[in-house]
Amino acid sequence: MRQIFLLILLFIVGQWLVKALRRHDAQSAQRTGARGANGAGAAQGGAGSPSGQPQLAEPMIRCLECGVHAPKSDSVSVAGQTFCCAAHAQRHGARPTGRDAR
Ligand SMILES: [Zn+2]
Repeated sequence: MRQIFLLILLFIVGQWLVKALRRHDAQSAQRTGARGANGAGAAQGGAGSPSGQPQLAEPMIRCLECGVHAPKSDSVSVAGQTFCCAAHAQRHGARPTGRDAR
């Protein structure tokens, strides 16, 4: 049971890493394109730049089990329901109803 959680955690961390890498790529590409706008070190603020949003090539789906948003190519769809991974699809299918004693 613990291994499953570890696997899920690894998957989420992996997705996060990929996302961070993509954002870093987009940011560096932007920086080379627009240089000299703010000469001093005004950047690196924690406010976040809304202009630096990467264009999504594919639609995102929301996992019914954990609520994580994942690209459609990475998702698993079972009976019209989408999940971020096969493990979550199995877990969701194993439950007779959506509600369970927590
Ligand atoms: Zn999930």
